[in-house]
Amino acid sequence: GAAPPMLEAEALTVAYGKVEAVRGVSLRVEAGRLITVLGANGAGKTTLLNALMGILPARGRIRFEGRDLARLPVEARVEAGLSLIPERRELFSSMSVEDNLRLGAFRFRGGRGAGGDLAEMFALFPRLKERRRQLAGTLSGGERQMLAMARALMGRPRLLMLDEPSLGLAPLIVAEVMRTVAALRDQGVAILLVEQNARAALRIADYGYVLDGGAVVLEGPSAALQSDARVVETYLGVL
Ligand code: ATP
Repeated sequence: GAAPPMLEAEALTVAYGKVEAVRGVSLRVEAGRLITVLGANGAGKTTLLNALMGILPARGRIRFEGRDLARLPVEARVEAGLSLIPERRELFSSMSVEDNLRLGAFRFRGGRGAGGDLAEMFALFPRLKERRRQLAGTLSGGERQMLAMARALMGRPRLLMLDEPSLGLAPLIVAEVMRTVAALRDQGVAILLVEQNARAALRIADYGYVLDGGAVVLEGPSAALQSDARVVETYLGVL
């Protein structure tokens, strides 16, 4: 049969007190693929990412490249090759673009020199090169998202998880961010892309899951989801 997936989560459940925000979610990310998780506000998308990263405790199983991650702390998951870019992007506002990138290599791999290099990131994100001395806090929303991606890549993750990278961005900038995410996939980084913007995400994803009330209610190849009446009605609207 097929090779086992890079990441496999099975029956993940996350509760805040008595309320289950993620309920029995199973998903897979194959190496080199771009998988999207769609859902409305409060569907449980951020909670799911936090559970995969080890930021929140979860019940269920998480395997990454054959290893059982479920009991490992965040740092060990980072070491294993996972990286999460949170919705808030969490840059160091009063530091320059370049220094944010340097810290990415430091912070994500314990400063052992295994990180990506600046030249590589500036080739991938020419805008950041132009603005290398600018303070991160003065960047536009799209530039901030690009910097967050570049900083994560400095840690050379094998799986990059993005929480709503389109949030707060104008449509043209969303398209630019999505093109960049697709380019990363094409370079071999596996991607788990959480989005409310189903249209933009399905355009670049290979496969998608739809979360509702913390559970997966629908999954399939992007093309199938794009033409699924329920997805069109609920998440894509009338063209
Ligand atoms: P959004 O798109 O708005 O970010 P989401 O799909 O990421 O939404 P989550 O943030 O994962 O959804 O939230 C899922 C559910 O869990 C929501 O009902 C939310 O109110 C609840 N929730 C999230 N964080 C907490 C918390 N710290 N304590 C209690 N409930 C929480």
